Amino acid sequence: MRPLSAAQVLALWDAGQTRHPIDRALLALALAMPEEAPDELADRPVGWREVNLLALRNATFGSALDGYAPCPSCGALMEFGLDGKALLDGLPAPDSNARIALDGQQWRLPSSRDQAVIIAAPDPETAVDWLLDRCRIAESDASDTPTVNRKKGPKMKCSPALIGDIEAHMAALDPAADIRLGMRCTDCGHAWDAVLDIGNCFWDELGTRARQLLEAVHRLAGAYGWREAEILALSPARRAAYLNMIG
Ligand SMILES: [Zn+2]
Repeated sequence: MRPLSAAQVLALWDAGQTRHPIDRALLALALAMPEEAPDELADRPVGWREVNLLALRNATFGSALDGYAPCPSCGALMEFGLDGKALLDGLPAPDSNARIALDGQQWRLPSSRDQAVIIAAPDPETAVDWLLDRCRIAESDASDTPTVNRKKGPKMKCSPALIGDIEAHMAALDPAADIRLGMRCTDCGHAWDAVLDIGNCFWDELGTRARQLLEAVHRLAGAYGWREAEILALSPARRAAYLNMIG
């Protein structure tokens, strides 16, 4: 994965301001992976998005990945420091065609598009129902038998046991969709598994880098009269050298 250029960092930061985090992640991947059809990025499994976003952030911001998570027991903010490259090496990218066959039915892995749709669910149980219904593959699509009716059948309610089984299979087939960090609070001793949100980390780092670039443009444009595009096109070393010269 190639790092984002200075101009791409600013373009992404600008375009992502008013977007949902899922859309921001897809915008970033559309920029970084022009060989992928933009419409199809949203249909890739969630963990595929996370693995590629992690690769992009590692390439752009370096391997050291620092963040913090609030202790669920006392609220203290606990910092963590990770090796982003080691994390990436341990995460398999899921197979987009992976299928879960249980109880005579089949499901595919949830995608970014599915995640975006179930945000509107009124409660978590309904969100799970919607998700499993979207991911359930109609029999007509799962078999080779030609059929006139290729629409999905009526909505089926899964039993709690079956839902648990499907979720366990989904997690096993796409571990990158839900990355957990073992944390321990140094204030109260509470231990928990914190969710590592790659998109949030990436967006925070992108914001920091964008502000640095905007400040560099502001100062260099004022001192030399250069245009924004010219300043962003400078190598980081040259930009830093000129910034040093104007003090
Ligand atoms: Zn605590």
